[in-house]
Amino acid sequence: MITKPPIHQALHAPIILALDVPSPRDIEVINSLPNPPLSPLTLDHIYIRQCRLAGDTVDAWGGCFRHDDLPKLLQLSQGAPALIGHSYWWLRQLPPVARFFGGSIQEHRGASYIVPKFYWPRKHSQAEDLKTLIDASIINEASIAFTFTAASCSICGEDIRECTHEVGKDYDGKSCFYWYDGIIKVLEGSFVYRGAEPGTGFLEKPVSPEQSGWLHLTINGIDYVATKTPDK
Ligand SMILES: [Zn+2]
Repeated sequence: MITKPPIHQALHAPIILALDVPSPRDIEVINSLPNPPLSPLTLDHIYIRQCRLAGDTVDAWGGCFRHDDLPKLLQLSQGAPALIGHSYWWLRQLPPVARFFGGSIQEHRGASYIVPKFYWPRKHSQAEDLKTLIDASIINEASIAFTFTAASCSICGEDIRECTHEVGKDYDGKSCFYWYDGIIKVLEGSFVYRGAEPGTGFLEKPVSPEQSGWLHLTINGIDYVATKTPDK
């Protein structure tokens, strides 16, 4: 039997509004990641934001995560690096700028999304630049890169590359797409400038309501209410 190689896919999704407060639990999770920080971090060492990284909607490629796979996807994102624009560090020698940790699965406009948090060190020479670009919504979307083993046709269940159905075509009123089955690994998440998945956009940061004012954002035609955090 011939084993098919894993499929590598990259999707776009939004960074989203985060209303929770960075907590000691966040620090605990960060310091418990695989390959944890060599010097244990505290809240004073890092910035934290969070993003809606992937969901169970059909994306621009015609692919879709199964709802039941979202917990596994969130688990696989733990400790994954965050890059700028899929600038794969092994190709361009650019290091990651942040790292994913924790998070939850959240509902948004009728779909479910994994919403991991990410942190980056305040001492990095470009930490303030990244924060400024994210908070000003210049960098306003996130994208996930992952590998999986099977692209299962939504109509017949066979490999979409081998069956007769075509992505996007209607079959008895059902539009054909494919499932991301056998998810192996989340390679990285990237901060990007334009997403491909409907209803996506960038987001805000964990902040306490007491610290914040309210900021209304319109991203990709969608209104978000975001908390506005004063610099610490
Ligand atoms: Zn098919």
